[in-house]
Amino acid sequence: MAKDKRMGLKEKYAVMTRGLDWETSYQPMDDVFPYDKYEGIKILDWDKWADPFRLTMDAYWKYQSEKERKLYAILDAFQQNNGQLNISDARYMNAVKLWLQGITPLEYAAHRGFAHAGRSFRGAAARVACQMQSIDEMRHAQTQLHAFSHYNKFFNGMHGFAHLRDRAWYLSIPKSFFEDAMSAGPFEFVTSISFAFEYVLTNLLFMPFVSGAAYNGDMATTTFGFSAQSDESRHMTLGLEVVKFMLEQHEDNVPIVQAWLDKWFWRGYRLLALVGTMMDYMLPKKVMSWKEAWEIYWEENGIALFNDLSRYGIRLPKHHEVATKEKGRVTHELWSTLYQYGNALGLHTWVPEDEELDWMSEKYGELFDTMYRPRLLHFRAQEETGKRYFNNRLPMVCQVCQIPVFFTEPDDPQTQCVRIVEWADTKHHCCSDGCADIFNREPEKYVQALIPPQQIYRGEAGGARDIFEYAEWLHLVKDVDTGEYHGSPDHLNWEAWKAELPTPQANSDEAA
Ligand code: FE
Ligand code: ZN
Repeated sequence: MAKDKRMGLKEKYAVMTRGLDWETSYQPMDDVFPYDKYEGIKILDWDKWADPFRLTMDAYWKYQSEKERKLYAILDAFQQNNGQLNISDARYMNAVKLWLQGITPLEYAAHRGFAHAGRSFRGAAARVACQMQSIDEMRHAQTQLHAFSHYNKFFNGMHGFAHLRDRAWYLSIPKSFFEDAMSAGPFEFVTSISFAFEYVLTNLLFMPFVSGAAYNGDMATTTFGFSAQSDESRHMTLGLEVVKFMLEQHEDNVPIVQAWLDKWFWRGYRLLALVGTMMDYMLPKKVMSWKEAWEIYWEENGIALFNDLSRYGIRLPKHHEVATKEKGRVTHELWSTLYQYGNALGLHTWVPEDEELDWMSEKYGELFDTMYRPRLLHFRAQEETGKRYFNNRLPMVCQVCQIPVFFTEPDDPQTQCVRIVEWADTKHHCCSDGCADIFNREPEKYVQALIPPQQIYRGEAGGARDIFEYAEWLHLVKDVDTGEYHGSPDHLNWEAWKAELPTPQANSDEAA
């Protein structure tokens, strides 16, 4: 014991990740670790794996429990002080609903996925890194649920997120993304989640949500965001580490990794359409536009990262230039889709206010003024005459990313982009060349995808015969959880609560 006390962190880490590991003798190593070879990744020396954080288990628990104590102290204070009244506007809550329904289940899926990947690697240091991330991700799911549970007392649409995630057409976008990764091999899983998502694209996810929360007075989300940030830096490092490790171990790994980067860049980018739309449309106080975020976090940082990786023979991900061409349109295209299909959505949609439209004109220029502003104004005019527009059918969605095929041709924002792919006498629809490439590389995988709108039309969604019965099957109450924001209970409650509140002036008088 005395000797143990003198051991430094570096030594403890070496013991945990090297000294305590052994080669099995009763069973062949390939039987004990059946999944880490079939993807074709060749590892010559697992000891070359170096984790820059060198975190030991005791240090990990100590560090995490300190963060946990601080977080829950703030959440308690937030609840006792009716923090829900300090948000910018009740429309903001729809960003939180989207996070709860779409992203929190991904945190839990990441917990499961990393536990599985961690079990699969025969290198102990990689197993340890995955195990810690697995625990982090469970904590992320829990802290988000605890933070959001307070809002659930005051706003609609949050009561059945886990039920919704498995049934709702729009939530199959994030769900299918993660399940695609979880059903791949362990190396592809960490490449997709740790590298493509956490390292390359996470700034586009976390920055807008957490800064957006801070800008809009949502201290609960801001606090768990900051509490998760130190974990995120560890996760990002794991992502970069695993990719460099594979590339350095064997040159045969390079084309395999490249194909994964092509695939997961595109899948991650498509998923972020939801985040971009949240930034541009759901934040009453805007942080930056999707277009600006894309320019900073992809066109500058992302491309610089890939230039660094070129010494390993890695090139920029396929179709990245298409993503850049779309930066001025995806959020407007997606919002009008969500707006139309609002009767089957567990959050509200609306036409932005005039100042917001002006902000969009400033950020998106002529394209917005000629194509999207007129459509939004048309929607508003219809609403004002009592004919709020809904599309009460269900959209045809992409067989790969599961987003409705509303995107437009890379070089023509006026033409819908649809690609038809074929496999074994069946035809499937894709939203883009990026998704068609992913389908064509593994058609056996994607033909099995569960596509909610098709399920519904086949009568497999609780026997629902139309969009309203489908929404009931989702446990969504019409016009309470779904539909237009203006006039919804969330909107009316918010106005009533605000009317009762003393003005800030009266507050400071009392204090004085
Ligand atoms: Fe997480
Ligand atoms: Zn797609």
